[in-house]
Amino acid sequence: MTEAVRLDDHDRFHELSALANAGVLSSAEWAELKGHLQFCEPCREVHEQYRLLAREGIPGLAALHNSEQEEINWDDAATRQKLLARIRKEDRRSQELSRFLPA
Ligand SMILES: [Zn+2]
Repeated sequence: MTEAVRLDDHDRFHELSALANAGVLSSAEWAELKGHLQFCEPCREVHEQYRLLAREGIPGLAALHNSEQEEINWDDAATRQKLLARIRKEDRRSQELSRFLPA
C-alpha cells in the first residue's frame, strides 16, 4: 500500500538513492531502497537520475560533499592547473570537432 509511505519517507529514499550511487550504502539500506523502488515510480526516476549523475559527474559531486575534508588535498595549485588545462583542451577539441559537423 503506497498510502502507508509518508512523504518524508520518499525524501529518505531520494537520499538513499544518492548514497547508493556514490557506493556508500549498506546492504540493509540497499534492500530497503530496492523494495521501495519496486512500487514507487517517482523515486525510481530520481534513482535513475542519480545513476546518470554518478556515471558522469560523481567526482565533482563527491568533492562537493566532502569539501571540508578535501580542502587540504585540493589546496594543490598544480593539480588544479592540470585539471583546468585538461578541461580547456577537451573544450577546444569539441569546438574543433563541431566545425566539421553539419550545422
Ligand atoms: Zn518513493
